Amino acid sequence: MRTHDFWTEKATNLSIRNQAFINGKFVNSLSGKTFDSINPATAQIFADVAECDAADVDVAVKAARDAFEDGRWSNMHPAQRGKRLMRLANLITSHREELALLESLDMGKPISDAMNIDIPGCARAIHWYGEAADKLMDEIAPTDPGALALVTREALGVIGIVVPWNFPLLMACWKIGPALAAGNSIVLKPAEQSPLSVLRLAELASEAGIPDGVFNVLPGFGETAGQALGLHMDVDMIAFTGSTQVGKFFMQYSGQSNLKRVSLECGGKSPHIITKNCLDLDQAANAAASAIFFNQGEVCTAGSRLLVDREIKQEFMEKLALASASHKVGDPLHPETSMGALVEEQHMDRVLSYIDKANEEGATLTLGGCRSKDRAGYFIDPTIFDDVTSDMTIAREEIFGPVLSVLTFKDEADAIKIANDTIYGLAAAVWSQDISQAHRMSRALRAGTVWVNCWDPTGDMTIPFGGFKQSGFGRDKSMHALEKYTDLKTTWIKI
Ligand code: NAP
Ligand code: MG
Repeated sequence: MRTHDFWTEKATNLSIRNQAFINGKFVNSLSGKTFDSINPATAQIFADVAECDAADVDVAVKAARDAFEDGRWSNMHPAQRGKRLMRLANLITSHREELALLESLDMGKPISDAMNIDIPGCARAIHWYGEAADKLMDEIAPTDPGALALVTREALGVIGIVVPWNFPLLMACWKIGPALAAGNSIVLKPAEQSPLSVLRLAELASEAGIPDGVFNVLPGFGETAGQALGLHMDVDMIAFTGSTQVGKFFMQYSGQSNLKRVSLECGGKSPHIITKNCLDLDQAANAAASAIFFNQGEVCTAGSRLLVDREIKQEFMEKLALASASHKVGDPLHPETSMGALVEEQHMDRVLSYIDKANEEGATLTLGGCRSKDRAGYFIDPTIFDDVTSDMTIAREEIFGPVLSVLTFKDEADAIKIANDTIYGLAAAVWSQDISQAHRMSRALRAGTVWVNCWDPTGDMTIPFGGFKQSGFGRDKSMHALEKYTDLKTTWIKI
């Protein structure tokens, strides 16, 4: 394992790509403006980055369109596209330390998580879609024998990708992989808080043989660059991950412009249900703690509402307290650290305001509840509120920080009612050894993913990921995501 000294030293010598990447080259924004990138663990500025706006969006979309139209990528043999994507996956792996460090410095996550979860997940996603590039078969419809009807899938064209800061490179790769495998060109806007890793990725994509103009990255702000992409008349689809509020903007942009396709991976308030039929309460308690404290709670699928059967409540809370004690904030560059800094000061203040609100509304604080002392950066200690009820703000709104709400239920029907009492529907989990109960409950839960006797087990690429209700629609991962970046064409031939 690399030491803290190793990472600190590597951080000082890190060379940073801070310009936009358009048509195969790093360039300044047309306005010449830049913005600061802050390391949230130290609250220090460590890079200034090109600030792109509508004018840069125009240039990048044109480059992407030209690339799409002349077929340099879209008409390449699918197996050849696949090969280059797999080469990119290998480059991600061979640059794992550099990419992990960029991720950690930019948004505060523990270097060990970036090394062991984010970056391997990125390589896996890109590789998986590289392998899949020539596996999507078309159809011949069972028509009258006097005709041959071909049902084919075609790339959409130019895909705008807009992603958040919690897993900057991973959320991007879940979209880049299938969008490129299908033959599209992309223009990607990373979150303003975390643009650096994906800029480096664009350069690696070039090295892997992905032609100029196919993969463009525009750092900048949502209200300018993001909106311009959403409203652009020559963008065929927006693939978005972020908040429900901004997801709704993208639906509006589409309606106001060219009816571009929109796919949305939005927020969540996922219920984690511990029934009295749970066989191993220790294991469930460990999972419940990780489900909210992993990645500082900045996870769309965070198990932020813990629902516990009142008969086992006391025993479970003792186990949860023990399990939570192993989650401590620390220097993200220390390899033993499991919780880092929140992404920025404004977000930390927002999380702290939810903690104040919970206290005001009568929830009982049993752990944490404050900014971590003795640290310059934006750290919040793992926090648990007991006696939460469904009407409280912390049970309803997505906090996106290390704050767990514990609610109690009296029977299965009550658990389902509380679990589904939310505008979101991203994920849910049930712990029960009773197989019929587990099936009954997983059917009744309105969520895109239901885990049984586990929480978010692996980064498996074979399963679709996405939400019900206001958690959005469209799926990342699996072959369904590959289909999402294509449209169906019917060709009817009279014989
Ligand atoms: P966010 O505020 O919605 O931002 C997401 C992206 O949209 C950023 O690139 C942002 O740019 C851009 N944006 C903001 N305002 C915009 C506007 N008016 N027009 C166009 N683009 C705009 O979300 P976040 O705070 O970065 O991330 C946290 C959210 O992401 C949470 O709600 C979380 O649940 C969700 N999330 C969902 C998933 C999933 O798969 N379902 C995964 C991870 C995160 P700026 O950075 O410049 O504001
Ligand atoms: Mg930053």
